[in-house]
Amino acid sequence: MDGSVRTEQALQEEVRILRARIATLEETERRHQHLSQQYQAQQSALEEAQLQQQELLHKLAAATEFTEQSHPFDIVFETITTGLALYDINGNILRMNTVYRQMMGIDRHPTYLANNLEERGHALLIHNGKGQALPPEQWPINRILRGEVLGSQQEVDVGITTLDGRELLVTVSGAPMYDAQGKVSHAVVIYQDTTERSQLNQRTHDVLRALLAMAEILVQGTDLADSGETPIKSTVKSSIHRVLQRLMKLARRVLGCQRISITLIEAGSEQLQPVAIVGVDREEILQWQAAFEGMPFSSYISDHQQQMALHAGGPVTIYQPTSFDPTHRHYAVLMPMHTGTRLIGFITIDYGDDVHTWTREEVALAEAVSRLTVLVQERERLLLEQAEAHAKELALLEANQRMDEFLSIASHELRTPLTTINGNIQLAKRRAQTLTFPPETPQDFTNKIELIQELLSRAERQVRIQNRLVGDLLDVSRIQADRLELHMKPCNLLDIVNETIEDQRSANTERTIVMQRPEYAAEFPILADADRVSQVISNYLSNALKYSASDHAIRVYLDRDGPAIRLSVRDAGPGIPLATQDHLWERFYRVPGINVLSGSGVGLGLGLHICRTIIERHQGEVGVISAPDQGSTFWFTLPYHQQSESLS
Ligand code: ADP
Repeated sequence: MDGSVRTEQALQEEVRILRARIATLEETERRHQHLSQQYQAQQSALEEAQLQQQELLHKLAAATEFTEQSHPFDIVFETITTGLALYDINGNILRMNTVYRQMMGIDRHPTYLANNLEERGHALLIHNGKGQALPPEQWPINRILRGEVLGSQQEVDVGITTLDGRELLVTVSGAPMYDAQGKVSHAVVIYQDTTERSQLNQRTHDVLRALLAMAEILVQGTDLADSGETPIKSTVKSSIHRVLQRLMKLARRVLGCQRISITLIEAGSEQLQPVAIVGVDREEILQWQAAFEGMPFSSYISDHQQQMALHAGGPVTIYQPTSFDPTHRHYAVLMPMHTGTRLIGFITIDYGDDVHTWTREEVALAEAVSRLTVLVQERERLLLEQAEAHAKELALLEANQRMDEFLSIASHELRTPLTTINGNIQLAKRRAQTLTFPPETPQDFTNKIELIQELLSRAERQVRIQNRLVGDLLDVSRIQADRLELHMKPCNLLDIVNETIEDQRSANTERTIVMQRPEYAAEFPILADADRVSQVISNYLSNALKYSASDHAIRVYLDRDGPAIRLSVRDAGPGIPLATQDHLWERFYRVPGINVLSGSGVGLGLGLHICRTIIERHQGEVGVISAPDQGSTFWFTLPYHQQSESLS
């Protein structure tokens, strides 16, 4: 037991020692950690210090570099592309850039800068841009030194003669600089060379003015007064020539060329037709015209590639003898003129003996001139065509008017004697009928009386035909004058049809006219001028009788057709070819090859025209269904009249 007690004590002792050691180790560890934390903190502080040092070094280096560079103001001065100068209060130039030096030509006069402001200004001959000298107080630099700011709105255009003798237009702007007391101490002035820009502006202005004048020509057209130019004998009408001549004058001014001309290419023959030329004298005009009139286009431009180029729309430069002096060659530019895809001619431009270098603007301008020329020419051609068409129309109108007047007078004049003749025939017929003969009257005498009666009846028929023709003439002249009067009343179309058929039957006793209508209806109400509707039916019937053989029956159909009533007259005549059917309803139209087969052959080709007018004035329609050898069916419709459905 003792042994085991001791062992236990020993063990406890060892545990205690171990615990103590662990505690010591833990303490050491804690210390160690603390130390390493301290170390890390020191380390990062050191790193930060190093970074700051580097940054400072950089700054220092940059600062050194900055101070070592030339003055930054100079750098700005040099990089600016306009002339820039810094003045002191007395107008002496403290700094300036190269652009300014070159602009003013200062390098040619090194002593210039030693002069005072006034001397320098006078040396440059400052003017207002239009040649008027500017007094020193109005020089931009003096205005700025007085405290004025010349910003983008107030910039000043001046003209100068540079020290090396160039004329410049310069736009000047700038601002004063102030010292601590608020007084103007310096002036910064910007000089912009605008010579080219204003020249371009001027040119654009000139071109626009010229184009405007050309557009005016387009608007004024042939109303232009004679331009005073020598007229050229030409197939183009002289009015077009005048306009084109004027256009060429303007184009010459705009392009600044020596000569400019228009040559047309005749469609079909492809021959040249010289039209207008400017920049030459009277004699040269004639020479030019003689040289080119009628020349084939392919002889004038023999180079195939150049021909193609002109057709394709591009300008072509030629080097050829002039028409005025065959021994002398010169350059000329041809500008093609097109209508649609067709090359209709060209404008020839030359600058005399100079080899002219064309700018893009000049080419565009010449193209615009060529387009304008085409427009002018087209417009004139259309105007002429229009005038001719108008003249024809007027002539036709007048002829028609005269014809209508004639018809109206003639029909009135004819109607009166016809009425008298008719009255006399009736009287004679009645007298002849009432004649009583004693039994001993010779047979020969009574035969003669019968013959007279027969002749009177024939005369009566003739008068009826004449009356109808005169009536037609009168109606047509009324229609033309829009004076066909209708007396509209509710009526029954069936009654009108029956009465008209009866009239025709009694006048044509040998013919068969069959009427067909549906059983269910006894009334076909319409609102109409009954006499006029009867006239239409009568015309359809007499045509059917006239143009068909006497052994053929005529059929009349009457029926409802939707909101209308339809009447058709069918015959077994020759029929009418489709191509002529549309013309049937025109005045004085008669179908070629259609002959009268029975009854009277007289016809003026007016009946159907009158029929259509009457029916259309009743809001109805007319038509025909026909084909050669198939007979014809002439029809019309009239609106069914609801209100008068129950006619008494
Ligand atoms: P016209 O007095 O000549 O008959 P219309 O105006 O009535 O005048 O007719 C015009 C022409 O239409 C006629 O000349 C004739 O050629 C043709 N035509 C009219 N009706 C018929 C018909 N039923 N059959 C064949 N042709 C006809």
